[in-house]
Amino acid sequence: MNDILSMDTVAAISTAAGEAGIGVIRISGPKAREIALRVFRRGRSVEAGAVPGGRPEFSFRPRYMHYGHIVDPTDGRVLDEALCVFMPGPRSYTGEDVAEIQCHGSYVSLREILALVIREGAVPADRGEFTKRAFMNGRLDLAQAEAVMDLISSKSSRGHEVAMGQVMGSLSGRIGALRAALLDELVGISVNMDYPDEDIEQVIYEKLNDSLIAIKAELSTILATANEGRILREGVGIALVGRPNVGKSSLMNRFLRSERSIVTNVPGTTRDTVEESASLRGISVRFVDTAGIRESADPVERLGVERSRRALGEADLLLLLLDEGSGIEEGDLPLLELCRGRSFIAVLNKSDIGSVIRDEELAPYGPAAVVRISALSGEGLSELERAIEETVLGADFTGSEPMISNARHIALARKAFDELNEAVEQISLGSALDLIEINVHAAYDALGEITGETASDDIINEVFSRFCLGK
Ligand code: GDP
Repeated sequence: MNDILSMDTVAAISTAAGEAGIGVIRISGPKAREIALRVFRRGRSVEAGAVPGGRPEFSFRPRYMHYGHIVDPTDGRVLDEALCVFMPGPRSYTGEDVAEIQCHGSYVSLREILALVIREGAVPADRGEFTKRAFMNGRLDLAQAEAVMDLISSKSSRGHEVAMGQVMGSLSGRIGALRAALLDELVGISVNMDYPDEDIEQVIYEKLNDSLIAIKAELSTILATANEGRILREGVGIALVGRPNVGKSSLMNRFLRSERSIVTNVPGTTRDTVEESASLRGISVRFVDTAGIRESADPVERLGVERSRRALGEADLLLLLLDEGSGIEEGDLPLLELCRGRSFIAVLNKSDIGSVIRDEELAPYGPAAVVRISALSGEGLSELERAIEETVLGADFTGSEPMISNARHIALARKAFDELNEAVEQISLGSALDLIEINVHAAYDALGEITGETASDDIINEVFSRFCLGK
């Protein structure tokens, strides 16, 4: 696959579509320099007939930004004013020769320049192809490549931080160390299988046992970050629950600092669930404003209620709003029941007009926290944000450890852990080394699938197919 890939020179628009100050076209492969030279004319002179590159002797100074124009070499038409940089491989993002053209961020400019580059010999890059080439050329491993994608799609500062740590190799380094330790054990096992020695067999078993237990412990430390890692990567789903008029829309608007959700005095008007995202204390949050979970005869309303129930099922955290002006009413009771056993925060709203609900009334339902706020004045909101952070990440969360956050990585680390468990179990049963070897090997392979060493082409293709174009 590597050979086929490196034959082509690929090109794509690497910046997002839309009007912008600048846009970037990236070209990677053996013909990158030649193609860039054909379309780029250095300097201010763009007269028709001038040779590509501005002067016959022009060539790119590596990693140096040249000013000039993009000119169609067949008819001298000037497509745009541009900057061009050439980065010879292997010291480039992909590890191949790379040229990047910075032009105006007009979709027309970008499209036309890309079309020209393709006419001059490049082929359109697939999704994630630049990063895939970087992976194939050993510039980064699979976990790092996936973290690049997480970095691009991160919606909160802390999700970004986790991804950045992984791009820098924090997770890969730890997984690599565990694999190295497992490889040591595999070598020991195979030597002993080839040259069995009864005298030292007991010693081998003991050493293997200790070592596998230590590796398991390290894996479980990594896995302990999975929940928080996943939340920081994917964000947390929060459902606002409460009978009509308790202030759900008002609170959501506070969070979103906008007026996108309709706030009204008529009960039950927020009929559809409205989903909005916000970044809250560095965590990406998806709010689902439920329509009020009460049984209703109105079919439109019922649709809303059903959607709400579904939304509740998918939420990681519920905020149950109660009204401090009126106290707990009958309509609140089924909602309190719904929250029982779930991760929920009791939000006592309208603290500006009353304070009648006592914490003890709520204690039987097991809220993670009880917070008094006024969605109207904004009072208590930062306490609520802190309570949300503590509930989803845990009070002692520091975020300083390298984290595992990608569902694929988590599943593989769990598989490795289970295989090692099984190996340790086999040791305790005194099973033959060749049986134990099977589990240790499976653990070794599972970890290798995280970083890509033992990942099949199908897995690699699947991972990169989820990337965006131009990355
Ligand atoms: P929802 O039906 O739960 O979405 O409730 P809304 O957000 O539409 O609020 C219902 C009414 O309560 C509106 O008139 C809001 O202005 C009012 N309201 C919401 N929060 C507060 C609050 O903290 N204090 C007071 N006094 N009124 C509030």
